[in-house]
Amino acid sequence: MNILGREMKITLNKKFSAASLLILAAINIFIWRSVLATQADTLHVHFFDVGQGDAVYIRTPAKQDILIDGGPDSNVLAKLGQAMPFYDRKIELMILTHPHADHMEGLVDVLQRYEVEQVLYSGIKYKSATYAEWQKLIASKNISTKIALTGQTVKLGQAKIDILFPDHNMKDETIKNLNNSSVVGRLNFGQHSFLLTGDAEQEVEKSLLNKYSSDMLKSNVFKAGHHGSDTSNTKDFVAVVNPGIAVISVGEDNKYKHPAESTLQTFADLSIKTFRTDQDGDVECRSDGERLECNKD
Ligand SMILES: [Zn+2]
Repeated sequence: MNILGREMKITLNKKFSAASLLILAAINIFIWRSVLATQADTLHVHFFDVGQGDAVYIRTPAKQDILIDGGPDSNVLAKLGQAMPFYDRKIELMILTHPHADHMEGLVDVLQRYEVEQVLYSGIKYKSATYAEWQKLIASKNISTKIALTGQTVKLGQAKIDILFPDHNMKDETIKNLNNSSVVGRLNFGQHSFLLTGDAEQEVEKSLLNKYSSDMLKSNVFKAGHHGSDTSNTKDFVAVVNPGIAVISVGEDNKYKHPAESTLQTFADLSIKTFRTDQDGDVECRSDGERLECNKD
């Protein structure tokens, strides 16, 4: 009885061990799958909640890090700290859409804290202490810079960014309305596109409509121009972009009263699901090339 009892116990234990191993193996595969899904196959686009300003961080499936604008202060550092792997201190590409403070103050902090490989900007002339400091830091760190121009393509493994504006070399030019020097880029991965227009206003939207076919502008996600202002986001333009999702990067109770009621109405009329960083906080979109999701959408 005793021996039999012991034998039975052993058998049961063995069975239990085999089952545990199977469960552990299954969990392991599941964990590896999630890791792969979040790191290897997925494009992440983060619209950081940086108050009244813009900061868009892209992590490509090939693990490149791209930062487009840095918001109005050093808060972007904490956001990057959360979104980037802790061991990764390198940003492969920094894009400055235009040198207004709400887009570039944070980029100075990023230059001081991260290794930045390359910078893309319009080269526009603009008097500001921060812009001067930013350019000085780039020079002192010997970071390679490129002047943004329509027709350029930034290759990022299977993803890419097509530069759609400026339509001519703006290096050392001055411009009445700095917003209309904004670097406009369209990020593509698999079946998905993201249109990022900085603070470009209706004059630029019009020139994009004239220059490009709707195929080149059509995007699943549109970062609303100029914080949702009515100086941008014209109905003609938004209708051609035809996004399913719009993200408005905007600060709570900002003095500009962004976003404009008319912009929200345009998005509603065109049945565009709208996220706002002042209400939704950070907005993150993920694409594996076939499926796209933004936040809990
Ligand atoms: Zn702005």
